[in-house]
Amino acid sequence: MPLDKKRTSDVLECAERLCSERGVRLTEQRRTVLRLLCEADRPLGAYELLERLRALLRNPAPPTVYRALDFLLEQGLVHKLESLHAYVGCAHPDHPHVGQFLICSDCGEVSEVEDPAIARSLQAAEKAAGFCTERPVVELLGTCSHCARKPS
Ligand SMILES: [Zn+2]
Ligand SMILES: [Zn+2]
Repeated sequence: MPLDKKRTSDVLECAERLCSERGVRLTEQRRTVLRLLCEADRPLGAYELLERLRALLRNPAPPTVYRALDFLLEQGLVHKLESLHAYVGCAHPDHPHVGQFLICSDCGEVSEVEDPAIARSLQAAEKAAGFCTERPVVELLGTCSHCARKPS
């Protein structure tokens, strides 16, 4: 995070392609929300997104933002960080996956790791417990390597 210009335009292009393959529409609003999330230097909450959208679109209403976010979540183009009530753009949306997130509580940096072994062992645990998971959320809160090196 944040993605540079090149990566952001790659992600947007990939999103366009995925949506047209799936026969769903990446409207201007949805696209703008995705771009803002990719460009942000930290996860954004719905209201922060709304603030940023105000500078770009005419009269965006809160339901607009929530609908755009629901769409992007459904399409796997963004992830929701439950512990922060905030959203991040996914850097590799081309395949369905369950990500895990390392969240730095000093600088707010979030990195997504994608470890299928973690997802698999959670699925096994779920199954053993007969638990029906709605949102498989794995978020690690702590200090990033950059902040850990800073002299205190
Ligand atoms: Zn992802
Ligand atoms: Zn940090």
